[in-house]
Amino acid sequence: MNFNDFKKDVDLDAVGHEFHRLIAQLYPICRSITGNGVRETLGIINKHIPLDIHNVPTGEKVFDWIVPKEWNIKDAYIKDLKGKKVIDFKESNLHVVSYSKPVKKKMFLKELKEHIFTLPEHPNWIPYRNSYYNETWGFCLSYKQFLEMKDEEYEVCIDSSLEEGELTYGECFLEGERQDEVLISCHVCHPSLCNDNLSGVSIAAFLARHFASMSMKYSYRFLFHPTTIGSITWLALNEAKLNKIKHGLVLACLGDPGMSTYKKSRRGGAEIDQAVAHVLKYSNQNFEIIDFSPFGYDERQFCSPGFDLPIGCLMRTPNGKFKEYHTSADNLDFVHPTSLADSFLKCLKIFHIIENNTTYVNLNPKCEPRLGYRGLYWPSNTQHEPPIEQLSVLWVLNLSEGKLNLLEIADRAGIEFDIIKTAADKLLAQGLLKIKTK
Ligand code: ZN
Repeated sequence: MNFNDFKKDVDLDAVGHEFHRLIAQLYPICRSITGNGVRETLGIINKHIPLDIHNVPTGEKVFDWIVPKEWNIKDAYIKDLKGKKVIDFKESNLHVVSYSKPVKKKMFLKELKEHIFTLPEHPNWIPYRNSYYNETWGFCLSYKQFLEMKDEEYEVCIDSSLEEGELTYGECFLEGERQDEVLISCHVCHPSLCNDNLSGVSIAAFLARHFASMSMKYSYRFLFHPTTIGSITWLALNEAKLNKIKHGLVLACLGDPGMSTYKKSRRGGAEIDQAVAHVLKYSNQNFEIIDFSPFGYDERQFCSPGFDLPIGCLMRTPNGKFKEYHTSADNLDFVHPTSLADSFLKCLKIFHIIENNTTYVNLNPKCEPRLGYRGLYWPSNTQHEPPIEQLSVLWVLNLSEGKLNLLEIADRAGIEFDIIKTAADKLLAQGLLKIKTK
């Protein structure tokens, strides 16, 4: 299967807009690490791909953690003495600190200020804040809104509930020829924020839909879960099956206009790390590859020392490195159909390599075989170097001793994977190679 077959029927311009439409549909929902917002989000994703929805009860012990109480919210506001809502949750769900406990009381601004968060450096933006493991409450305002508040009494209401309930996550499993699995994870716990991480959610959903229409070698498992506690919960419940995971990616922040960034797995030299590096190198775009660090998204859990799974994190501009991060400016205008489509295309190229990265053995290792006789000779147009098809055939023959796989040969030869793969297909068809068996 060459790459064009692998990406069959993908109109990148159309899919970029389709991602953006899904993001726009999910954008208004108030999500958190538990609650109805996550369920509603998974319900919408379930219209695109078959999703198993798992509910894990509050209080369940998952490694060193405990599944928290479920949080839901109906309404919240700050009203002035005339009864006018100066802050209204219905205008932006970012106005309430996520996981705020219920509040209804009157207080003067002096006291209320202790519970207000703003961003003076961006006076029109609302910050995003949460308080998952410390029961408190708060409001997030634009600095401009804050400056308009007077030193007077306000009525403060957060109509929320923090009760025994469930942690919800979604899982889409696509069975391939092999039991070996590729794990693709994204977090679904942020409220109205687009790049972090409705971009990752939409790309994961459409990757699953695309792969469901194809026959794949690997089995693919897509996880849509709240960050940290969600991946910890999934790992705790699936520990016995983790040895099946051979490759994986955490998808986050994939829709901004910045360049691609890949954070390597903790192992650093895993096949997924090599595949992503290869795709980015041949993208003809700037990119950055960074080493693993125990800070960021759910790769922290997947790559914790007790698991050390071969899972990296694909992003564009990383978390915390764009000024819109965790603010109301991470909105529908900040994510672009072209960036989303470009990230999706890179994912397709990465998994095309993973699917096709085979190790071969040269069946005619004593001197070069007669290539012209087998239709494998391309005359050179220049004096200096043979055509790339010829070079690829020579590299594959020379380096196929059952040790290096096609991706390693491509990197050694300085030739793009798909060209090396085409050469290997031709040599295999001519009986000059065989697939290495274990
Ligand atoms: Zn975030």
